[in-house]
Amino acid sequence: MQNLMIDGDRLWQTIMETAALGATADGGVRRLTLGAEDKQVRDWFRDECEAVGCTVEVDEVGNMFARRPGRSADALPIAIGSHLDTQPTGGKFDGILGVLAGLEVFRTLHAAGYETEMPLMLVNWTNEEGARFAPAMLGSGVHAGVFDKAFADSRTDADGVSFAEAIEDIGYRGTTPIGQIRFAAMFELHIEQGPVLERENADIGIVTGVQAMRWYDLAIRGREAHAGSTPMDMRCDALADAASIILETQTAARSLGAMATTGQLSIISPSRNVIPGHVTLSLDLRHESDEELDRLEAAVSHLIAKLCGERAHLEVVWNSPAVHFDPRCIQAVRDGAAKSHAATREIVSGAGHDSVYVSGVAPTAMIFVPCKDGLSHNPAESTEEDQCSIGAQVLLETIIAYQSSMVSGDQTFQRQS
Ligand SMILES: [Zn+2]
Repeated sequence: MQNLMIDGDRLWQTIMETAALGATADGGVRRLTLGAEDKQVRDWFRDECEAVGCTVEVDEVGNMFARRPGRSADALPIAIGSHLDTQPTGGKFDGILGVLAGLEVFRTLHAAGYETEMPLMLVNWTNEEGARFAPAMLGSGVHAGVFDKAFADSRTDADGVSFAEAIEDIGYRGTTPIGQIRFAAMFELHIEQGPVLERENADIGIVTGVQAMRWYDLAIRGREAHAGSTPMDMRCDALADAASIILETQTAARSLGAMATTGQLSIISPSRNVIPGHVTLSLDLRHESDEELDRLEAAVSHLIAKLCGERAHLEVVWNSPAVHFDPRCIQAVRDGAAKSHAATREIVSGAGHDSVYVSGVAPTAMIFVPCKDGLSHNPAESTEEDQCSIGAQVLLETIIAYQSSMVSGDQTFQRQS
């Protein structure tokens, strides 16, 4: 088989070309879902895919699917997917790198006249970020049946514009029915959005899954009283309780290899010389294992009950179980990275991605590349040119490896109908 090499310079130039669509003065990118810049990048994406022989379909929530034919015309395609939208303070790499690395794979195959056995498909998922329309991962969630189309349409942005109005406005309400397109597998390349690969000098993260995440609201009642005339041993200070709970939760999380974060904290009706009588705060708990997260939750509930009894109320507001990616897909990433001589590390994603939902309907795995200082959702988000190219090469080799595992195994291709 010929040695296919992606063109790192071409990939880098393409990254810079798309970074101009929604570029901000501080070097970042602001390309909000279904806005004018999103339309620009979508039009660009469609043209570039057609230029390498793909046909592009759009589904009813704007997910874009570029199909590259294979020798087995009716086999399900192997997909590569990520997203083109950004946060308001986004960078040049989050999401779009996965789509552009896929485009570079397609360009490389096209230039070599290389025909894969199975068809390939490059996907742009609508509204991964959830920045304009909550929740995040909306397009992939609708595709996977987690949300329905009516739910997506009903989402509104801060100005009261609905998803339905916005998608009609930019002309990206497609006609392909939701979920009609199915994949043999999907691979998503993404920046790590954390500091681990950089710290360990790894080029590639072989992502084996996504950790379980739970969000809670905690309300603590104390008793408002005078800061000067209430002795220390006669107080019921809701903020002091909150402080103990935050620190003890973090200690419990460390001992279980979990993560605990409080990013929101409010004193209701605060005053400098009043003992806080009502405090609310958020808790974000994460672990690779649902069982360990259950243990942490039990420990936190116990410590809250011990400290505050009936004065505290803990409520789960979001629960996302751990995701374990498909073993055959993970092996294809390992094989693809080995073929590319990349330094690797196996890693569990700390952030949510479109792959979380897609993994419910197709075998899925992810490939991470490092990002400088672990920074993302920030104009300074940065990944080296070499790291982008190694990522794209690994993506290419992964697709080839996955296809070989399907062809050489006792698997018969899944047909489209
Ligand atoms: Zn992303």
